[in-house]
Amino acid sequence: MSESSAAVSELEILEAADMILEADYPIALTGAGMSVESGIPPFRGPGGLWTKNGEPPMNGFQIFMADPKRAWEARLARQHDELYAPLRTARFNPGHQALVELEQMGVLRFVITQNIDDLHRQAGQQELAEIHGNWSLIRCLECGSRYPWDTVSLAVLPPRCGKCGGLMKSDTVAFGEPIPPDVLKLCAERSALADLVILVGTSATVYPAAGFALQVKERGGRMIEINLYESELTAQCDISLRGGSAVMMPRLTAVLAKKRRAAMA
Ligand SMILES: [Zn+2]
Repeated sequence: MSESSAAVSELEILEAADMILEADYPIALTGAGMSVESGIPPFRGPGGLWTKNGEPPMNGFQIFMADPKRAWEARLARQHDELYAPLRTARFNPGHQALVELEQMGVLRFVITQNIDDLHRQAGQQELAEIHGNWSLIRCLECGSRYPWDTVSLAVLPPRCGKCGGLMKSDTVAFGEPIPPDVLKLCAERSALADLVILVGTSATVYPAAGFALQVKERGGRMIEINLYESELTAQCDISLRGGSAVMMPRLTAVLAKKRRAAMA
């Protein structure tokens, strides 16, 4: 990681910082690369949980709906397996912190994350949509209310919503489950305003998340990629910073903050 990061020149960072500062409404789309840097194994790709163990059933939501009690029992039995154990101990990294800094500067306007790990929230990101849900929350399928996991009694399964009595499941969006409409609406509204999108640690190939990024580019906006690897979108990016987000995001943010201070002085 350090080798490829070092290969990114200061000039490229300066260009990216300028581009972000010129934009009226920069947003970011973040993905698994950021989680991996916090010690959470990815689903896909080398060393991925699904690569190793096989893809989960594509109708996970239908399986849940067919027998919510049984699905909840199966979920609780997995509390400390190789997916959930790392989520319990993971901490946000300098990449997450850099995005928070950009937000606090008033530069970054919104983050759409495909990650379920809660780390953007823990880092302090305010303007955030977790498009695939958040593993630490339980969501009512009727009214959309979210509850922290440890505030919900699981003595009787499936748990019911304290507000409306509706059926509840983990907020993490299952295969076959529609993206919750409130999140989808928020992403659509905010990405419609964007004239620049920073892709951080994501190959942006999973829809609808990728669509929100691509539509910015299609409207004539700009796209900056920060990723260890080339992606299918690299060719469409105005700038690609090849490196891990935990290294590149702080570098970019530091340069940007300096430029901004200089411009204001
Ligand atoms: Zn409810």
